[in-house]
Amino acid sequence: MDEEKKTADMEAIVSLCKRRGFVFQSSEIYGGVGGSWDYGPFGVELKRNIKSIWWRDMVQHRDDIVGLDAGILMHPQVWEASGHVEGFTDPLVDCRSCKKRFRADHVKDGRCPECGGELTEPRMFNLMLKTFLGPVEDDAATTYLRPETAQGIFVNFANVLDVSRKKLPFGIAQIGKAFRNEITPRNFTFRTREFEQMEIEYFVKPGTDEEWHERWVTDRFEWYVRYGMRREFLRLRQHEGDELAHYAKATYDIEYLFPFGWAELEGISNRTDFDLRQHALFSGREISYFDEDTGTHVVPYIIEPSGGVDRAALGFLVDAYHEEKVRKRKRVVLRFHPELAPIKVAVFPLLRNRPELVALAKDLAAELRPHMMTMYDDTASIGRLYRRQDEVGTPFCITVDVESLEDNAVTIRERDSMEQIRVPIPEVRQTLVKKLGGA
Ligand code: ATP
Repeated sequence: MDEEKKTADMEAIVSLCKRRGFVFQSSEIYGGVGGSWDYGPFGVELKRNIKSIWWRDMVQHRDDIVGLDAGILMHPQVWEASGHVEGFTDPLVDCRSCKKRFRADHVKDGRCPECGGELTEPRMFNLMLKTFLGPVEDDAATTYLRPETAQGIFVNFANVLDVSRKKLPFGIAQIGKAFRNEITPRNFTFRTREFEQMEIEYFVKPGTDEEWHERWVTDRFEWYVRYGMRREFLRLRQHEGDELAHYAKATYDIEYLFPFGWAELEGISNRTDFDLRQHALFSGREISYFDEDTGTHVVPYIIEPSGGVDRAALGFLVDAYHEEKVRKRKRVVLRFHPELAPIKVAVFPLLRNRPELVALAKDLAAELRPHMMTMYDDTASIGRLYRRQDEVGTPFCITVDVESLEDNAVTIRERDSMEQIRVPIPEVRQTLVKKLGGA
């Protein structure tokens, strides 16, 4: 049944991403580097849209969440307190023949997946990327690029509480880069060594944590559906006992059915009071919340919805990807939710050798540009221009034709239905804003 559900083929997605400028291999001219990808002109817009709707929905529209932007580099003791130095490890095996390395839990039959050779016993490998602060490269100067944005929030708990005067329950949200030295980065942008996270640490009174955990799991699941992911391609999976992270009481993963199988988009954990207690212990500072109702200090429990921007981008791309036959020709179309679409409208002159049409189309594009991401293009025939925009998921295309010079109206073509309507130029902006749902 899962097989039937798969629509997009991964190779088609990777090829479209490269061809149309969503994602490029990092340092491609030097042969590439494993686990890092560059987002091109359309990819960067998609990611920006994901981050801004997340921020709008999680921070701007809520009274109980404030934002933070902490540094990637932190005091090395943070990673001792968090348990990452000790426990942020994956089991690693080496192939005795080809010398390649694999995650032990990714190897199926105990032989090397590349050459079938014999494998070593598993060793634990720390996933944090080490670096040095200052000019001396010794142990005292060693720290790590953060493997999660969460710790920046925990260590600022008291600062944010002081300035925001929030009462429990409340949350702190952050979007930023995180780094993990994954043993086997793979599946395109799904598992990389450098990625972006969107995390909320939601502080609640102990005893109310399970109820808040459930609420967050539902909220976050519905968020992916709201922006277009098909419900039947999403599922929740609860972590089994031995899979639970050292800090977690319970974790649910929101998984998406990627072409390579079900895989995690976002994890929602009940982190208990572990992190705040650890930081209090290691820093020697009091970290707690004064509960005015009971007149006591409590250490809040934390519910953490933690999603990856890159994984969300890949999920939305895969879900939006459709191939169909239109008049016996293949049409590739990304059916993005309008808020996610990198470009909202493209404007073309029907004939690029007619200066009056070109001028009118350019003027219209310039008028729309301050209000929405707009593109002007006259570098191919109309049919080809439409196909190009379909492939990057642009919801609307506008054609300025010879008649436009007479009736001061243009044709708006809708991406999914391919329906065309004639709209007077002075009404174009309002029509688009309405159709885009105010985007
Ligand atoms: P996985 O089991 O896939 O390695 P994880 O459970 O270790 O992921 P978390 O620690 O829960 O991941 O991180 C929260 C989110 O950050 C994940 O849901 C994912 O979206 C994102 N993320 C984690 N590791 C990576 C990675 N290597 N590449 C891209 N995104 C990642």
